[in-house]
Amino acid sequence: MKSASEIWETAKGALRVQVARANYDTWLKDSIGVSYQGNCFTVGTPRAFAKEWLEQRLRSLVQKTLISITNNDALEVRFHVCTPADAKPQPHANGPARNGHEGRELLPVSGLSPRYTFSDFVVGDCNRLAYAAALGVAEDPGSDFNPLYIYGGHGLGKTHLVQALGNEASANGTYVVYTSGQQFTNDFVNAVREKSVNAFRRRFADADLFIMEDIHFLLGKQQTQICLYYIMEELYQAGRHLVITGNRPLQRLDSLTPELSSRLESGLVIMIQPPDEGTCLAILRAKAKQHQAVVDEETLALLAARCKSDTRKLEGLLKRVIAYAKMTCRSVDVDLAQEALSMVAAQSPERPSTVELGPLQVLTIVAESCQTSLDSLQGKARDAHLNLARQICVYLLREKLNYSLQTIGRLLGRDHSTVQRSYQKFCTLLQSDPQLRAQVDSILARLA
Ligand code: ADP
Ligand code: MG
Repeated sequence: MKSASEIWETAKGALRVQVARANYDTWLKDSIGVSYQGNCFTVGTPRAFAKEWLEQRLRSLVQKTLISITNNDALEVRFHVCTPADAKPQPHANGPARNGHEGRELLPVSGLSPRYTFSDFVVGDCNRLAYAAALGVAEDPGSDFNPLYIYGGHGLGKTHLVQALGNEASANGTYVVYTSGQQFTNDFVNAVREKSVNAFRRRFADADLFIMEDIHFLLGKQQTQICLYYIMEELYQAGRHLVITGNRPLQRLDSLTPELSSRLESGLVIMIQPPDEGTCLAILRAKAKQHQAVVDEETLALLAARCKSDTRKLEGLLKRVIAYAKMTCRSVDVDLAQEALSMVAAQSPERPSTVELGPLQVLTIVAESCQTSLDSLQGKARDAHLNLARQICVYLLREKLNYSLQTIGRLLGRDHSTVQRSYQKFCTLLQSDPQLRAQVDSILARLA
């Protein structure tokens, strides 16, 4: 596993080309990777004002950069005032179990997210076989169903299932290497450029369980496929388990090399189907529970009827309804759900939206862009980055939706004069800060 310091040096390399030279030299150059524990990556900077600046202006970019390097979607970045002496070498806390493999070459950081578990996966007719196979592999990797190829449309639970498999196997001491077609391709291209393809291949050599998601990403990439084939073949011949996902049946992976295709055909191929109505309802029930929200059956049925073909979209609708209930301090019922759904543009794909932009969308997108939550925006905490996020909300609600300061105050749980001060301060700041302008423009683009 790479240390926090090594990961941060890679991130700095990536950030150097994304921010203005002056900003890099002033705010990032002297920063250090302090630790990477759980999902929390701490960046140290020698000066308090640099910490504040990084938090306010670069948190989102830094976090995205670290996520792409570590492949850990749940990673959160923290900034901390410290000296280089604080940066003790630290092992990565998320690494897969080594199963007696200590001392081997360090592997890429695992991309498994602990939030995916078998117990949170709702089983229905649409996914029963895939679930059973994944569970079987997790319990006894290297035996039956090798390779296991799971395919199905977008948002049907492939990632959830194979991540749960990886987590379970890893907890049992299996050494799991997880990657995606996109990540694999990027790493391979870099390895070719740096003439280190052999070292790249060695990264996978010790995996007891190799999981690759979205193999369709490799279509048309002949050299990458050949490299993947050799890696998979070596692992397979050594009795290791291969689990692959894709968005279509093997016959429709048109330009997959015949060798890869026949290796996958030699194992178990399972399709995940779109959920039936009963499974949709059960998934919604489970997700509502995860979000600690009380949602009655009638509302769940309303949501399930809206979106049958994509569980991710279904969850998105539920989240919007819950957020709307919180924002308006009401409990969830059918009326509220209908109101919430009519306020946001996200309608079922079958019925494109004609609904205008609503306040909930503005707040949600600002919260996402500023790496915070609706709760925090409306809460009492007064951290600098939250204050800035609230100011962006005030500005957009005023400029885009023409809301009165009183209404904005109600939405954000602030009084009228606070909102007015925020608005004035932000307008001045916006004129003098091109980076902030760029952030607001990118939010506006998303709202459009
Ligand atoms: P895919 O990889 O097939 O595009 P994901 O695994 O990313 O889909 O699923 C999208 C979302 O839907 C995730 O939040 C996942 O937890 C949820 N999801 C999908 N299927 C199920 C299921 N059967 N039970 C619980 N959650 C599910
Ligand atoms: Mg996926």
